[in-house]
Amino acid sequence: MKKRWSSLILVMALLAGILSGCSQKESAQKTDVQESTVSVSEGKTSIEDTQAGETPAAADAEAAEKEAAVTAQNVESVITYEDVELIDDAYRNYYQIFPGSYYDSDEDGNGDLQGIIQKLDYIEEMGFNGIWLTPIMPSPSYHKYDVTDYYDIHPTLGTLEDYQALLDACHERGIRLIIDMVFNHTSSEHPWFTEAVSYLEGLEDGKEPDLTECPYVGYYHFVKDGEQGVNWYKAGNSDYYYEGVFWSGMPDLALENEAVRKEFEEIAKFWLDMGTDGFRLDAAKEYFTGYAQKNVDVLSWFTQYVKSVNPDAYLVAEVWEGQAAIQEYYTSGIDSLFNFPAATQDGAVIKTARGRVEVKEFFEWMIRQRAADLQAKPDYVDAPFISNHDTTRISAHCVNDEADMKYAAGLLMMMPGSPFVYYGEEIGMKSSGTKDENKRLPMYWSAINAEGMTNPPADADEVEQKFASWEEQMQDPSSILQYYRKALYIRNSHPEIARGEISLVEGEFPVGAAAMLHDWNGEKCVVISSNAEETVEVDLAACGLSEYELKESLTVGEEEVVLEKNILKLPSCSIAIFK
Ligand code: CA
Repeated sequence: MKKRWSSLILVMALLAGILSGCSQKESAQKTDVQESTVSVSEGKTSIEDTQAGETPAAADAEAAEKEAAVTAQNVESVITYEDVELIDDAYRNYYQIFPGSYYDSDEDGNGDLQGIIQKLDYIEEMGFNGIWLTPIMPSPSYHKYDVTDYYDIHPTLGTLEDYQALLDACHERGIRLIIDMVFNHTSSEHPWFTEAVSYLEGLEDGKEPDLTECPYVGYYHFVKDGEQGVNWYKAGNSDYYYEGVFWSGMPDLALENEAVRKEFEEIAKFWLDMGTDGFRLDAAKEYFTGYAQKNVDVLSWFTQYVKSVNPDAYLVAEVWEGQAAIQEYYTSGIDSLFNFPAATQDGAVIKTARGRVEVKEFFEWMIRQRAADLQAKPDYVDAPFISNHDTTRISAHCVNDEADMKYAAGLLMMMPGSPFVYYGEEIGMKSSGTKDENKRLPMYWSAINAEGMTNPPADADEVEQKFASWEEQMQDPSSILQYYRKALYIRNSHPEIARGEISLVEGEFPVGAAAMLHDWNGEKCVVISSNAEETVEVDLAACGLSEYELKESLTVGEEEVVLEKNILKLPSCSIAIFK
């Protein structure tokens, strides 16, 4: 897809006649960073054309169908932003992809790595410069968190050559690619485990296992003394039981065993040598369930090893806990831990977006958290997010309130660190209940064209999407997707938001509004926001901000942010950036 980096452009003129879902009032939306021009894809079939089937003759139907398919893949956004030179450091905007549900390049119903390559233009255009892939290694399950071979790609996703091609294509675009590394457990079908169980089954009565005969017995936690509790399962027809914290199909590895650690050093090196930019470490709090310090030791070992291979490699771990428990893990030296207190319907971002807490409280929470983070680890990179493959989606958190969903995204993008966005979040996809399969539904590319759309996970429910497809949202300047794009654009344009020290701006703010200063080596940027129900007026002079200039704004409805003679009018759930 060709890029058109003209300056900050909102395309409107052609929309009215093209797009059924886009009304004039939406087209009229305009902000300080956008100006009007025309750049709708030349020679491309519009959505309405496709629906109406305006093909000249029946004989051309097949050709027209192909053309429409190409359109669905390559549809360009109605808004373009100027190219922002991104800083090549650990602070990035990550896009989390569940590969099997993302984009199917060969029409077998499975999302695949070539499909991701085909969508890199889109991912880059959104303003993401990092990608996290959930597990891609061979596995018997659709989610692949139970690995049977740590040195290959699951066949439906592609091959190692495809993975290398994806890495190269990412790197050409300045995108870093990290993959899930699951070493709390393997699959019960992993050869290490099956060999260990066979060996135990063949042990003579009264004989103890001999690790020189079968080292893999030492790779897991096997005990002979009967069932140890709910997480212990019988190992085949042997006298032994094994630990499986998640379920019987995921036997826990013995991470205290040096031989196991050696295996994962080799595995990490294999992926790093290909060019992989780092790992997302699954289930770190279960390495030794209930023993945080032992888990820290594991993270510390792995971080040191990975950095010895590539000092710039990035590691982020999943410790699904409260803030104090998460911060215990900082001493491991790991770059990042996911900010679970920020996430989901009970997290700080959604609470603020929904108006359950005031913006000032949100900013103060963020400032306290940042101070504690930096005290524990001076180069800590926070990893805030709203949803992931294990949580319900943002649409559920906000009960499909589009304004709140947008505002939540805006608040996330004003946080320090490296934010993570789960695929489909940017178009407000549904998760439907708490069933895991429904959290990993096919990316909703198009309402009318199946090109690239994957099959849903086998046990997923039939879920009707509430918000428009990707294709339609790309063409709608007021869509959730375009809000995410603009928020990411703002974040990329003002690097101090991710990297700076933060403090509250003291002043006479109306109830519901507050301001936060991001200061990065003297580059200062002020974020003012309000979640009051009505538009509020901020007197910049009374807040000591009269020397700052309004640079950008994010709004969730038709009413724009307006600045007149030092009085800033902030509509409900708007964000204004001053510099
Ligand atoms: Ca496929």
